[in-house]
Amino acid sequence: MATLMEGAVVRRYSRWDGPMKNAFTVDVEDYFQVQAFADVIDPARWDDYQPRVVANTTAMLELLGERGVAGTFFVLGWVAKRNPDLVRQIARAGHEIASHGMNHRMITAQSADVFRSETRDSKKLLEDLCQQAVVGYRAATYSITKKSTWALDILCEEGFKYDSSIFPMRHDYYGIPDANPLPHRLTTPNGARLAEFPISVLRRGGLTIPVAGGGYFRLLPYPFTRWALRELNGASQEFVFYIHPWEVDPGQPRIEKAGLVSRFRHYQNLKRCSARLRLLLGDFEFTTMRAVLSQMGLLDPEV
Ligand SMILES: [Zn+2]
Repeated sequence: MATLMEGAVVRRYSRWDGPMKNAFTVDVEDYFQVQAFADVIDPARWDDYQPRVVANTTAMLELLGERGVAGTFFVLGWVAKRNPDLVRQIARAGHEIASHGMNHRMITAQSADVFRSETRDSKKLLEDLCQQAVVGYRAATYSITKKSTWALDILCEEGFKYDSSIFPMRHDYYGIPDANPLPHRLTTPNGARLAEFPISVLRRGGLTIPVAGGGYFRLLPYPFTRWALRELNGASQEFVFYIHPWEVDPGQPRIEKAGLVSRFRHYQNLKRCSARLRLLLGDFEFTTMRAVLSQMGLLDPEV
């Protein structure tokens, strides 16, 4: 009986043979494509801006390479079309290629038909380049909200096995505050099943604290981020960390006409980001999102 009980405890906590691993993810897009600048930069003019995404993604690959960490790169189709070698280089380095859509338009601003064709095209483009199945999706600006859950059905129909677009908090651009914050299998409006890895948050005392990367990682002191992420792992919860290539590029051209809040969000602490990433990679164990979801039993075995 004692053995059985011990066995139950071991099964609960030994999902990983060694230390628990978390998902390291990179949204591969350039500095002029972010939502914070969408009101001052017309997507039709993107080609006029100095591209920095190849150099910055290469810097990110070097950072991960130093630690021997594989991550998931959600690549924007627009970037992949112009930089096919970059996609091949990411895949060759042993990382997972996933889709960040085609044109970085929020799903909430798209029709179902446009969403379907752009999502299909971006998947095929990436698969042709990396010669591996692309099964993961992250929406531009986390734009799966209560108004756009229809998109989850389209993702299933187009062959995706997991999504990582739901931010379980309130924000001016995105969020489903009452969404399940842990990785899970969700049921789409049409009744299909899809693995979801929501952006990790720490819930404490009625507060929802975003601790999983991007602007929050740059704005909050690193010891706070480390504490919060250790709290999650300490509670046997795998987390996702996300970052963008432009966040390790303090020398990027400044978009002066953007508003004060947008500039603060985008430019704060860019100089500190690489050093913090090195600390993070030393303090936690990471792998691809696909590997974490598989280990959790949330993906079908053939994936
Ligand atoms: Zn993005």
